[in-house]
Amino acid sequence: MGFSEHGNYEVIKEFSIDDPKVSDSNILIRIDMTSINTLDLMTRNGIPGFKFNMPHVPGSDVIGRIEAIGKNVTNFSVGDKVIVNTVYGCGKCQKCKSGYEAQCPSWKCLGLHINGSYSELISVPSSCVSIVPSGFSDEELSAMPLHAPLAWRNIKKLANAVEGETILVRGASGNVGIFAILFSLALKLNVIALSSSPEKEDKIKKLGKVTVLSSNKPIEELNKEVLNITNGKGADIILESFGSTLGNSVDLAAYNARIISFGVLTGAESSLNVRKLYLKNISILGTHNASKSEFDEALEFVSKNNIHPIINSSFNIKEASKAQSMFEKHNLFGKIILKNRF
Ligand SMILES: [Zn+2]
Repeated sequence: MGFSEHGNYEVIKEFSIDDPKVSDSNILIRIDMTSINTLDLMTRNGIPGFKFNMPHVPGSDVIGRIEAIGKNVTNFSVGDKVIVNTVYGCGKCQKCKSGYEAQCPSWKCLGLHINGSYSELISVPSSCVSIVPSGFSDEELSAMPLHAPLAWRNIKKLANAVEGETILVRGASGNVGIFAILFSLALKLNVIALSSSPEKEDKIKKLGKVTVLSSNKPIEELNKEVLNITNGKGADIILESFGSTLGNSVDLAAYNARIISFGVLTGAESSLNVRKLYLKNISILGTHNASKSEFDEALEFVSKNNIHPIINSSFNIKEASKAQSMFEKHNLFGKIILKNRF
């Protein structure tokens, strides 16, 4: 499934392409399930300055079984059930060699730079493949690859969260937001969740001990509430996926805070008070994806802490157009799964 032209959900159609080739270091995977991400809608709508090879297959999450392996691949066997990290690098630069291929200048993302997971088969480098962790349904597994490792990287690797710190999560009812809340609770952080949707506030509260604030309030009121909750300190960690709110995140940041920027859902421009930035020792760190080492750490963390993704609904992958329409139009909580296998 995919698109030959940019547009609304109606451009998503079924088409045939040649089976992907299996190079010496690659693995061919028969995809069982994938899930819908905001990135799928961005690629379908078109990204300014980004040229897609048409037809394009979206999708970044892969759960499946190994169909064939390249002759240099020794650590997997045909039939293994696997999960795939969304990003891989050139394999040659210093970042790739040190296990941080998401920082490779030539990084590639499944479903963005190359054909993705809305298909039956995919060929990926063996370096981004892992055996699935036990204790999860296939639906839960297919909800993890893009979002769980990014939430892990943001909170643990970039922000280096310490027990007892306060984290403020914007877009708390989004899929990275939900993982971020679940991980933060497991790490014993104090969680402040911002959500624009009143009906999702109760769902967020059911995730655990979370203070939920409405982001629809006037900014001065919201600022006052965050400062009250944190005894006037502000938040130690702020997950900033909105972009245009970066200046406000600096206002809400505590002394020595870390602000992690990983999206521009509400706009790529923001003005901020630089004086607060340096006088409060605030770090602003940007990232787009997690590397394989962080992917494996995230999978280990969800296993050890029995963290289960929230699933909203499942569709046959042939209904990808309808599923994307539902993803866009309705105020969903949790992941939409697309299935090749039932
Ligand atoms: Zn590289």
